Amino acid sequence: MRLTFCELPSKRKTADVVIVPFWVEGVQVKMACTAKEFSTLSSVPIKAKDFLAKADEIALLYKPSGKEKRVILLGLGRKSEITLESLRRCYSSAVRFSRKKKWGVVSFFFPEMGKESEEHVLAAMEGSILSNYAYDQLKRETVKLDPTFLVKEIQCVGIDEKIFASCKKQALVIESVQFTRDLINGNADDVTADVLASHAKEMAGGALKVKVLRKKELEKEKMGLLLAVNQGAIKEPALIVLEYFGDPKSKEITAIVGKGITYDTGGLNIKVGGSMDTMKCDMSGSAAVLGTIQAAKKLSLKCNIIGIIASAENAIGPGSYKPGDVYISHSGKSVEINDTDAEGRLVLADALSYLQTHYTPTRIIDLATLTGGVVIALGEEASGLFCNNDTLAGKLVEAGEKTFERVWRLPLYSEYKDGLKSSIADMKNSGGRKASPCKGAAFLQQFIKNQTPWAHLDIAGTAYLTETRTYHPTLATGVGVRLLIQFLESL
Ligand SMILES: [Zn+2]
Repeated sequence: MRLTFCELPSKRKTADVVIVPFWVEGVQVKMACTAKEFSTLSSVPIKAKDFLAKADEIALLYKPSGKEKRVILLGLGRKSEITLESLRRCYSSAVRFSRKKKWGVVSFFFPEMGKESEEHVLAAMEGSILSNYAYDQLKRETVKLDPTFLVKEIQCVGIDEKIFASCKKQALVIESVQFTRDLINGNADDVTADVLASHAKEMAGGALKVKVLRKKELEKEKMGLLLAVNQGAIKEPALIVLEYFGDPKSKEITAIVGKGITYDTGGLNIKVGGSMDTMKCDMSGSAAVLGTIQAAKKLSLKCNIIGIIASAENAIGPGSYKPGDVYISHSGKSVEINDTDAEGRLVLADALSYLQTHYTPTRIIDLATLTGGVVIALGEEASGLFCNNDTLAGKLVEAGEKTFERVWRLPLYSEYKDGLKSSIADMKNSGGRKASPCKGAAFLQQFIKNQTPWAHLDIAGTAYLTETRTYHPTLATGVGVRLLIQFLESL
């Protein structure tokens, strides 16, 4: 999709439709921008009370002359209640409407919010571009009958060059969100550890170096947990290491670690009751790591990132790792497996240990679709955050509020660790259903050395939705990319 701008509204080029925002001020419906040319036209439905400017409300009007024959009056709701998120959603409605009508070129006017205009324009653009996404590679007949339509150009009207430059930057981030969504939406048999590794390699160059450890190297590194999880699979596991040095003079390194279980059957503790069919999404954490580093590179972010992806398939076969057996981790600690479906923490434990052996990260953030429990606790509205450092937690919460990829902090009480005691190994991998997200985090914490600031994001509820919504046209949301870019920029 092309993004263009025109500071002077009168100079804008012709489009298929122009979107003009309105809000409610007191008891009156008012135009939220300066576009006098639409005053007479819009007064008709407003006087008739057919357009009340409620949030998401759309009125389609036609104009006999002028640059565009179609005008969308877009409701933003009460002026005093407008938020970045409400703008994302409202502009997303306008784009979805345009896609349905197959209008290729759309002109946007933005609400005039005074000093904060820039971030409001950016939010509107975010909602728009996030909505302009489809995953139709696996459709056949339906797409023949009704081809997927995407908006080809958005013309931003009435904003200056500086704000437009920020819009373009944000569009690059969202391109990486779309890339992340593609990886998650793809078939589990297509998006394997190998494929994740080749995507990483394709991204390499410039400030980004990529290294992939295959089965033999993993054996040499003694990554006993990652190998155990993959034992039942035909495909090889991989540990993918991405080194982005955008600020080589600085010693500061943010490490981001992603769970990359390309399919999770649960292993011999097989998933029952219809909870398996979404499990191609169990690599969402790793997809977010790839997306974040891709975006960081495109934006030439001035920071250093080590990305690590631990990828395996938790399959069932004669070689599957066994409940009751003990495996030795990369760190040397032994783990009794009492639930083969708690495999994410195993591959992450080895990745975290590898990370701290080969690098000295300033802070570590891991992303994982780790537990069903976090979905019970927070639904699809927030990712669970576990953190041993208040400053890091605060910054992640802030980035979450700003991007609406919200995170909610949950406890890391030492008692959760007690729930993982084993009589034959250093620990067991599952503490049962009670407080399962907290115990998952407590397990990971045992692989963090020297109190390094560390945050674990349990994205099981936010990465893959039950239903499409607002600016998420597919179930895969690409959560994590916007959050982490916002976080990295705030450092
Ligand atoms: Zn599992």
